[in-house]
Amino acid sequence: MKHYRIKPDTNVNLNDWAADDHSAFKSNKQDANAEQQALNRKLEQLQELLYAEHKHKVLIVLQAMDTGGKDGTIRRVFEGVNPQGVKVQSFKAPTHDELDHDYLWRAHQHVPAKGELVIFNRSHYEDVLVVRVHKLVPDEIWKRRYEQIRDFERMLAEEGTTILKFYLHIDRAEQKKRLQSRLDDPTKHWKFNEEDIHERKLWDEYMQAYEAVLSKTSTDWAPWYIVPANHKWYRNLVVARVIVDALADLKMSYPEAQQDLEKIVVE
Ligand code: AMP
Ligand code: MG
Repeated sequence: MKHYRIKPDTNVNLNDWAADDHSAFKSNKQDANAEQQALNRKLEQLQELLYAEHKHKVLIVLQAMDTGGKDGTIRRVFEGVNPQGVKVQSFKAPTHDELDHDYLWRAHQHVPAKGELVIFNRSHYEDVLVVRVHKLVPDEIWKRRYEQIRDFERMLAEEGTTILKFYLHIDRAEQKKRLQSRLDDPTKHWKFNEEDIHERKLWDEYMQAYEAVLSKTSTDWAPWYIVPANHKWYRNLVVARVIVDALADLKMSYPEAQQDLEKIVVE
């Protein structure tokens, strides 16, 4: 999975990253299911340990273009995980109250506490993505945010948060297919948003904004992974594998009993 992890200060050009790559797992779509289930079981165990140990905090950031698969990834990768101790926080267009504060305020309120795993479905990165592309603030304001975000995440990491950031990378042709299927399939109509058609016209601007994010904010304490996401099965395997490996690296253990349990009799 190292291959997908962006080293600090890399100049990322997304044209160099194949969105339909599926080379790191030997599985094909058919075998992927068994592999996914094995990873899900491991994640389930590690998450229980995280909760029981009550020491580490885990923050997972998911970013992608519209139809990129953020919701599907959450559904599949966290299937079977105990909902206690796991939270999903989605970031929509900011409210008036949120806009009256600094842009990191709303993100900071939802970062994980000890023993928790929090998934950001979109994140503070929207403040250098949609905000940049739509010129919602002057250039000089979004330009200084990369450094602010690096510092914010470094503080979280120093305070005990493991941060993993995933950019789910689909290409333009795949987005076309997925938008079309939202139009064609009545069970997907609810997902269709006319704004997505307008956003799609800004594809190149978004790619540029994502390249800046990936180039400037992948750090040792909060790395970005570029996940090839045209194939949903592969995307899920990559995300699950990275999370499982990161949690295993924490070398967690169940806490020691606080008393001499052998002396206790259950009548
Ligand atoms: P969805 O994730 O499809 O429900 O859409 C959420 C929408 O909220 C997307 O169009 C985002 O671009 C938008 N959004 C999220 N964060 C911000 C932000 N900080 N400023 C402006 N729009 C945002
Ligand atoms: Mg949407």
